[in-house]
Order: sequence, then structure tokens, then C-alpha cells
Amino acid sequence: MRAVVTGGAGFLGSHLCAALLGRGDEVIVLDNLVTGSQANVEHLFGRAGFTFHEHDVSTYIWVPGHVDAVLHFASPASPKDYLEMPIQTLKVGSLGTHNTLGLAKAKGARYLLASTSEVYGDPQVHPQPEDYWGHVNPVGPRGVYDEAKRFAEAMTMAYHRYHGVDVRIARIFNTYGPRMRPDDGRVVSNFIVQALQGKPLTVYGDGEQTRSFCYVDDTIAALLLLLDSDVVEPLNVGNTDEYTMTEFAGIVIEVTGSSSEVSHEPLPVDDPGQRQPDISRAKERLGWVPEVSLRDGLGRTAAYFREILGG
Ligand code: UDP
Repeated sequence: MRAVVTGGAGFLGSHLCAALLGRGDEVIVLDNLVTGSQANVEHLFGRAGFTFHEHDVSTYIWVPGHVDAVLHFASPASPKDYLEMPIQTLKVGSLGTHNTLGLAKAKGARYLLASTSEVYGDPQVHPQPEDYWGHVNPVGPRGVYDEAKRFAEAMTMAYHRYHGVDVRIARIFNTYGPRMRPDDGRVVSNFIVQALQGKPLTVYGDGEQTRSFCYVDDTIAALLLLLDSDVVEPLNVGNTDEYTMTEFAGIVIEVTGSSSEVSHEPLPVDDPGQRQPDISRAKERLGWVPEVSLRDGLGRTAAYFREILGG
């Protein structure tokens, strides 16, 4: 298979590229490197079938030759990043989705959209099944990401219904693992880096808000199964083990063997109060369940951060 991966130099994208190459696929990466980095894919440069192009997919894209799959993973994905790049986030989710769907249509390729649990906003249904329509503030600061991804899903379904493009939509919940940026601002990277440096872990708000964290290898396994499946409806990809941020801080301190304390900082605007995926669809249609426990995954992630932070 010849696959185009946008955002292939990002955290998830780089793992996805490695997995595709590992099963013998050819991979063409398009990435403008605003949040991704070449360091994430350096180990793939020598591999047969891997090519990298620095390009902003919000502008016109063309890839010569046949293409079997287009996987649209380009977007800032950390709240800190998309709050700093609101217009680029809206553009890559809207124009970038339009352009990549156009490429898939022109090539007769299958299309996989990296969507997000943020389409559910601050959910009033718990856990969140795919048929929940969500609770999003369109004019709040997070709206730039949430609404871009909601638009992307609508555009993807329009290309499916109107143009007959074969599409897949993955709603990806909080994912963590090696190659997250230490400064990307997400809770997993913040807490691990703070714990390793003996600094206080910054819990936002009262720490009672919840998240459910999926190790990247599990996420990637689900994405490949989804790509190869016939599931056109959106599909949740995530781990169902849910923790408050206070509990999570305690687990990070325990796993890293840190003596850090916890400090409190203000809760970001519109921060969802709870989040846990209902993964019945993934279980039934893909036969997938996550396998890596939080402590195991955090141990592997902490080892990565120890290495890149130099001890
Ligand atoms: N959070 C926190 N401390 C941090 C960073 C984040 O308590 O240093 C909280 C944040 O308020 C949210 C949760 O952790 O409730 C997850 O935040 P993250 O930015 O990782 O992703 P989100 O799930 O909000 O997109």
C-alpha cells in the first residue's frame, strides 16, 4: 500500500509511519513542522519506501503517482499549542481536511481522519459513545480545535456521501508515549517532566476533572485495524481506565520514584470535567481492546523523557 500521512512528523503521526513501514507499506509524509519535528522521523529516513516533504496541507497538495490511503493527522493537538495557533488549527482542520479529501478522491484512495474526543466537548453523557453529539462551546478558546475537528468530520462524511470516498473517522482520546514534546503542555508530559526534575506537579483547578489515558502502541494498533476495516461510522479509540488529575499526579510520582509535591494552578477555560470513551464499537467491529496498563506505559514514557532530558 502507498500511504500519504499528513502530520507524519508529529507524536502520533511518527508512530503511525513506523507501523505502516513495519508492515511493508510505502509512506509519504507531508508536515509543516509547526508542532512536529524531523527528529521524530529521523530513524525512518534510511528506510525503503519512506519520503518526507515539508509542506503545509492547508495549502494545495499534490502527490504524483498512485495513492492507496490518505491519513490526515496534521494538527496542533495539545490545548497549549492550539491556543497559541488558533487560526492555523482552524485552517488545518478545515482547509487541510478539504485538500486531503480532494487528494483521496482524485486518487481513489481510502481516507482516515484523525478526529478527537474533543468533538464531545465538556460531555454531559458519560462515558461517551459515538452516537453522543457532544457539548461544545463554539466561541470559547478551545472551540478552534473542537469545531475544526467537527467540521472535518462533517466534510469527511460529505465526501463519502457525495463523492463516494471510502472514509474512516477515528475519535482519538488522550494518548501518551515516547516522542511527546516535553514542552507540549499536556498533562502527561508536564507531570512526567516535573516529576523527573523534582519540581511541583501543576494540577489545574481542584484536580477532580478526569481523563482516560491510552498508550500510543495501543492507539496505533486500533488505527491500523480501523484503516483495514469497513467501519465508516466514527469510532472511539481510547483506554477506559479513568483517573482524576489528582490521582494521576500521584501515579506519576509513584512510577517515577519522584519526591515532587503537587501545586495548584487555575483551570483552563472550558476544560472538560470528565472524559472516558465507550469503546464497545471498537471491541465489536475491530476486536480491539487496549493492552498496556497505565503504570507500564508511564514507565516506558518516563524512560524516554529521562533519555531526552539527559538523565
Ligand atoms: N492538566 C493539569 N496540569 C497540567 C496540564 C494539564 O492538571 O500541567 C489538566 C487539564 O486541566 C485537563 C487534563 O489535565 O483537565 C488533561 O489536559 P491535557 O492538556 O493533557 O489534554 P486535554 O484532555 O484537556 O485535551
